[in-house]
Amino acid sequence: MFKEWLTKLKEKKKQVFERKKSPEETNALSKKQPLPLKDSEYPNRFLKFYHQNSRRLNQERRTSYSERKKAGICVRCHKPVVPHLVFCEFHQQKQKGYNQKARAK
Ligand SMILES: [Zn+2]
Repeated sequence: MFKEWLTKLKEKKKQVFERKKSPEETNALSKKQPLPLKDSEYPNRFLKFYHQNSRRLNQERRTSYSERKKAGICVRCHKPVVPHLVFCEFHQQKQKGYNQKARAK
């Protein structure tokens, strides 16, 4: 009974997660998602740790991103941001360069 309820709950969470993402994003994510491996199949303990905790690590990264955004601190360094942006002046210029490169393709 409890197991059934848990499965349902997981299904719901999945649906919410998938609805938020565009198909391309979901694809990219699923490619990157590490397959669960046996302990002995990891080349080293660092990779094992990363694989087992990547979800949590990712979440932590995202939390600090949104917290910096809220606090008005550049998400790439610790300088104050240009108003209405998530970057400081230096990183905003850098980002402009990245965007131009990406659009030129
Ligand atoms: Zn910066």
